[in-house]
Formats: sequence, C-alpha cells, structure tokens
Amino acid sequence: MRKLVVGNWKMNGVTSDLAEIAAIGDMAINYSRVESALCLPATLISRACDITKSIPIGGQDCHLQQSGAHTGCVSAAMLADAGASLTIVGHSERRAAQHEQDGDILAKAEAAHNAGLKVIICVGETLAERDAGNALHVVLGQVAGSLPQDISGDWLSVAYEPVWAIGTGRIPEMADVKEMHSAIRSALVDRYGAIGNGVRILYGGSMNGDNAAELLAIENVDGGLIGGASLSRAKFEPILAAAEAFGE
Ligand code: PEP
Repeated sequence: MRKLVVGNWKMNGVTSDLAEIAAIGDMAINYSRVESALCLPATLISRACDITKSIPIGGQDCHLQQSGAHTGCVSAAMLADAGASLTIVGHSERRAAQHEQDGDILAKAEAAHNAGLKVIICVGETLAERDAGNALHVVLGQVAGSLPQDISGDWLSVAYEPVWAIGTGRIPEMADVKEMHSAIRSALVDRYGAIGNGVRILYGGSMNGDNAAELLAIENVDGGLIGGASLSRAKFEPILAAAEAFGE
C-alpha cells in the first residue's frame, strides 16, 4: 500500500499561515505515489479547503456526540461540514492533558467514521512505561481498547507515537519500531482477520527529512504522523520525497 504521510499542526496556524498551507498543497501533488494530508486547527479547516484542493485537510480531535450542549467542543459532523475528510483522535497530548481514556477514543473514532471522516487513532507509551519494560503491554492495551469492533471499509489508520519521542528530537531504536509495528499488526490480524492487514500503521515522533527514509523502510511502517516538521513546505517535502520512493 502507498505510504500515508500526515501533518499535525497542533495549536499552530492563523490566517497568515494559509499561504504556507497552499504551498504545502502545491508541493504534495508532485508526490503522486504518496497519500498525504494536513490536520489543522479547526479554525483554519474551512479556509484551508478553500485555498487548496491539492491535499486533504483534517482535524485533530472531535467530540463523541455530533451536536449538543458541549461548550467549546467541535463535533465530527462540524469538521466534515467545514471540509475535513479525516481526523486524528487519541493523540497522547489529549490523552494526557484532557484525560482521554481508550473508551472515549473509541467513541470518537466511531463518531468520526459516522460523519464520513477517515480516522487516525494514536497510541504510544511514556518513557517510564518503556523503561519499565511495559511498552508492548501498554500499546497493545490501547490498541485493544481504542479501536472499534467494525473497521471494515478502509477508513482507519493507527499511529504508533512513543510519547517520549514527540517533539523531543529523539526517536526509538529502529529495532524497537520494528518490534512495535509488528506486534500491532499481529494484534490487528488476530482481531480483524484479513482486514487487519489493510490498516495502515503510521509511526510518529520526531520524524523528519533526515530519518524518514530509514523509518519508512521498516516493515509495517506504512507512513508517518508528523508534528514540527509538517509546519513548513521546506521541512515537510523531504518526508514526502522519502515516502514517494516506496510508492507503487
Ligand atoms: C505529533 O505530534 O504527532 C508528532 C509526531 O510530533 P513531532 O513530529 O513534532 O514529534
């Protein structure tokens, strides 16, 4: 399958950044053997969709209800209405700061799917969990608890993002990435059968133009979720270029 490379702009981006988003779209269409997307702050989604059709635009979270008395929240239906075609759910920054549990994330993923969005569910261990030898146990527990029972229809990806690698410039040993992605694949196939082989497993955590080729070459690394290095065309392009080399 073609690699999927998704930018996560987090809480970055205002009107003056729309030109950079358009530049990223203009760049991305040159990489036809890669699937790419940009997950933006909700406030920019509609305008980003107006200025570029060259890269899918997504959100970074959604509420598990489609509407109602939830002050300050954004539903999946609202993301779709603004033009989004995908959303991230369960990012570790939300798991930590908003105390989101696996069950919340599962419900959000189903809400997003019901609103017609593709979904990236994030999982990943903390440094303390890895140091204690619990990384596999923690991550496979998140996979079991956060993924819906019915994932048929090619709408779901899983992003393995070690919490300690996000925004730190540190990445795991390649062997550890290989072990984790292989374990996630096995869990998906055990639970979903052949459908589990079609779920993309992205790696996220300090991926950049220097390390992308090596990370993307690992078996079962089907793409990347990129934070800091997705904020400019100059930093994002080398990652798409690295992914393009694996495309059919
Ligand atoms: C992320 O936030 O999903 C992420 C991977 O960030 P960074 O690439 O900056 O580590």
